[in-house]
Amino acid sequence: MTSDLKEPAISPRDPDAAWQDDVRAGVRHVRDLASLPLSPAQRAAAQEAAAGHKVRVPKAYLDLIDWDDPNDPIRAQVIPSPQELVTAEGELDDPIGDHDYSPVPRLTHRHADRVLLFPTYQCAVYCRFCFRKESLTAIGRGYTREALEPALAYIAGHSEIREVILTGGDPLSLPDKALAEIRARIEAIPHVRLLRIHTRVPVALPSRITDGLVAALQGRLMVTVVTHFNHPREITPAAEAACRTMRQAGFVLLNQSVLLKGVNDDVEVLEELCRELMYRLGVKPYYLHHGDLARGMAHRRTTIAEGQALVAELRQRLSGICNPTYVIDLPYGGGKVPLGPSHIEAREGETWRIRGQDGEVRTYTEVVG
Ligand SMILES: *Cc1c(COP(=O)(O)O)cnc(C)c1O
Ligand code: SF4
Repeated sequence: MTSDLKEPAISPRDPDAAWQDDVRAGVRHVRDLASLPLSPAQRAAAQEAAAGHKVRVPKAYLDLIDWDDPNDPIRAQVIPSPQELVTAEGELDDPIGDHDYSPVPRLTHRHADRVLLFPTYQCAVYCRFCFRKESLTAIGRGYTREALEPALAYIAGHSEIREVILTGGDPLSLPDKALAEIRARIEAIPHVRLLRIHTRVPVALPSRITDGLVAALQGRLMVTVVTHFNHPREITPAAEAACRTMRQAGFVLLNQSVLLKGVNDDVEVLEELCRELMYRLGVKPYYLHHGDLARGMAHRRTTIAEGQALVAELRQRLSGICNPTYVIDLPYGGGKVPLGPSHIEAREGETWRIRGQDGEVRTYTEVVG
């Protein structure tokens, strides 16, 4: 028995009724694609493409789609496309090596001080570009208390772990009760200091960010929520309210985006996204991820040189707090490393030639006592 998003509504006055309506009125199964304003050919293509990766889109996110635009950036993120079925040479099932660093089920430990914990492999929305889609296709891997026991025992036995990152799947697709239970178990481990949650719920199902959800996460641990906004059109009044609720609860909010061709590989789009994240939502742009080698995603990947040109321009236009770090998560567990263009032109002994933000090269000679 798993207990993820598909909980029935309890009563119409229940504070959870709003998000449950959003889930119910959205796309939950491949057959629901038939209710969308697609041409018969587009619908057939989407249904066929859905074979490779689950389909789910809450109503709130569907409502952001401009159906008159076949290249709409919101649609591109959630409606299956036949190109997904094309696996290109070099693409990988486990693009960043999660499994190689997994000592027990549902946990990845690659960096000493932090672990990834996978309480569920289900999501509120299934993104077409997901780098974990191979893990998500296995059915029935929702949350159960027993499934997490080995991972919790591992964390308790490794005193170097200070940060537990709930990811998945989407941890905020779980009911409040499950989240409170997981939080309580983690905070009972004395060496853990911070609980981090990687989620697309504030983007795709913002009504889910209720007072009850926030309360379930509050306790001894510092809480950081890392959202996943990819496009400025995702920054809606509902998303703003969700982020305000989390900020008022004292959570630190960061965002990671994935650089996606045809979605946000444009400096105006990225500039507006990063600026509005910080200035309107109070969410600090943290990472901009270069596309990883998930299967069937060649049509959404940019080149690294294109990404570098975009971030160089962003640095010109936006303040430090609005700028994300452009990173690549290397295959086989190499971890995330920055890809931003280097400003160091040359070095001779203690003298460095460094290109300034204005493009001029200046000399810096080290003077140390
Ligand atoms: C991304 C990731 C983290 C978190 O890395 P930060 O740079 O701290 O955000 C931790 N563990 C694994 C395995 C990861 O992939
Ligand atoms: S919410 Fe995250 S884990 Fe789920 S499909 Fe989207 S990118 Fe993948």
